[in-house]
Amino acid sequence: MTDISDETLDAVGGFLILVDEAISEAARAMKKFPQPNYVISKIAEESGEVVKAAIHCAEGRETPENVIGEMRQTIAMLFRLYAEGDGVHGLPALARLRVERWER
Ligand SMILES: [Mg+2]
Repeated sequence: MTDISDETLDAVGGFLILVDEAISEAARAMKKFPQPNYVISKIAEESGEVVKAAIHCAEGRETPENVIGEMRQTIAMLFRLYAEGDGVHGLPALARLRVERWER
């Protein structure tokens, strides 16, 4: 990572904090809205909200904080898909599949 600028490394650190916050948000949601849950659909919804907020932010009609908030919600749903799958569509947790591959 020696060829990465200090600015980029700072951004990576901030993103890892965002991921940590998203996982905490996902853990709360997993208790409040347990499976079966339509996680796949929520990923589409949340990612669309990121796009909308980012475009509006570029146009001066949305704040960067709200764009980041939508990004956190999207990451949270991606984490849920990885950790527990989608009980509505019958997709099992992807994390388990990854672990099984590591163990081969
Ligand atoms: Mg949202």
